[in-house]
Amino acid sequence: MSQTYVKEPRQEAFEYWEGLKNKKLKLQRCESCGKYIYYPREFCPYDQGNLIYEEVSGKGKILSYTIVEKATHPYFISKTPYVLAIIQLAEGPTMLSQVVDAMPEEVTFDMQVEVTFEHHIYKDVNLPVFRPV
Ligand SMILES: [Zn+2]
Repeated sequence: MSQTYVKEPRQEAFEYWEGLKNKKLKLQRCESCGKYIYYPREFCPYDQGNLIYEEVSGKGKILSYTIVEKATHPYFISKTPYVLAIIQLAEGPTMLSQVVDAMPEEVTFDMQVEVTFEHHIYKDVNLPVFRPV
């Protein structure tokens, strides 16, 4: 049996992971310039402004993707082939994530997607994944 080491999230990422626990996608938004950012950071990368968390729509589109044919971790063995995509969220930031509920050959550039949540058995966390709208 493989051992798993789960780190506590950094302070600035805590609310992101708490949101996922409750199946909500929450991103940081700058109080100064109003931009949403991802991944979690201590300060806004555009103007060093203070960041607060807000739940976002979870809607976006596929900017780019690849089809993964070989699992590089036991967790993915039953999932291959699967689509790994860069999703541009409606609020602006991009996320690297998996596309689910679609055959790899059905996925296209600019496909509209929405977030859903998948429980990761090895780390006991919910991860955001995306499915076609
Ligand atoms: Zn800012």
